Amino acid sequence: MPGSAHLRDLVETHRPNLTQYADFYRDVHQHPEVAAMEKETAEKVAAHLTRLGFTVHSGIGGHGVVGVFQNGEGKTILMGAELDALPILEQTTVPYRSERRMVDRYGNERPTMHACGHDMNMAALLAAADLLKAAAHRWKGTLLVVFQPEEEELSGAKAMLDDGFYDLVPVPDIMLGQHLVPTRAGTVAIRSGPVLVAADTIRIRVIGGPCEGSINPQFCVDPILLGTRIVSGLQDAVTKEVGQDEDATVACWGFHAGVPGNDYVAYADILLDIKTIKPDCRAAGVPRDPEINHSVRAPLTSNHECIVKPIDRIFRDYFTSNMADMALVRSTEDFSVFGAAHNVPYAYWNFGGTPMDAEEPLPTNHSPYFAPEVDLTLKTGTDAMVLAALAFLAT
Ligand SMILES: [Zn+2]
Repeated sequence: MPGSAHLRDLVETHRPNLTQYADFYRDVHQHPEVAAMEKETAEKVAAHLTRLGFTVHSGIGGHGVVGVFQNGEGKTILMGAELDALPILEQTTVPYRSERRMVDRYGNERPTMHACGHDMNMAALLAAADLLKAAAHRWKGTLLVVFQPEEEELSGAKAMLDDGFYDLVPVPDIMLGQHLVPTRAGTVAIRSGPVLVAADTIRIRVIGGPCEGSINPQFCVDPILLGTRIVSGLQDAVTKEVGQDEDATVACWGFHAGVPGNDYVAYADILLDIKTIKPDCRAAGVPRDPEINHSVRAPLTSNHECIVKPIDRIFRDYFTSNMADMALVRSTEDFSVFGAAHNVPYAYWNFGGTPMDAEEPLPTNHSPYFAPEVDLTLKTGTDAMVLAALAFLAT
């Protein structure tokens, strides 16, 4: 394990001028692209990785990019960030705010905003790649710097794998990911175990009828009534069986039934989103009789202690009082998909973006008011990614 003074010196000596990465951040923030449409963003990232001297593969699983840098015998580390923005109308007042509208992959024209911080995650990862390249004489191993598409739709990591990602690059020994959150700029938080929930989608079709020869609708089996009972029954089941303190939620994201002007309702379609940290509480209480279609939207993100421990020790030495507590967040991520088939251990941590002098915390990720502080946030994300990699690569 490299000493903390040694690592601090390495980072301070080789950190690039971050102005160009702050400029990259503002440029990408002003020119966001929604999931599966990240063409320009991917081109910018690929061009920068090429300038840094990485071997670059582009267009993987859509617009996915990976930069490879081989630097002698050592561990292979995959470091991840995301390319996509959200279909949100930006309400911030920053001079580089997005006014862009774009047609999404479904053909709808949408406002577009980097409201999740993927622009900052990208800028920090590029700066970290730059720093590690400059410090190459002080570590050994291979870097896989991955910029995945479609994170917001939880489909990009799988799309890259399905498109032969591991035909292009070796399977990593370790994976590292980080995400901007609304804690104070300068803070970092990491822990072992579950950090982001798993999400499942359940589609239920409740079939109505028969009317037993009656033309009066009150004698028919009403799928709307049954469907609403299922939705409220599932809320009850979560409260009573799982308990409010445990991490499971069921949300109804869609309910469609009936045709205007027709009093016979053949079926009701219900779309449920289920978030859990325990796979066995999925779908509790869902009745058998309706047609049920279950699909996994996102796996659980659960950090491996063997990876977290050395990183945590280095982070504590380096960030000292700027270590924040990491709570389980009820959002999702498909980052772990990259290593799932090969059981690659990983760590996924958070870094903060709320300005130091702000009285209120930054509005949360996916808010139209999400406007992180730039300089300290970028420096923190850069240093954190570099330190985490060096925990396993430094010589
Ligand atoms: Zn995100």
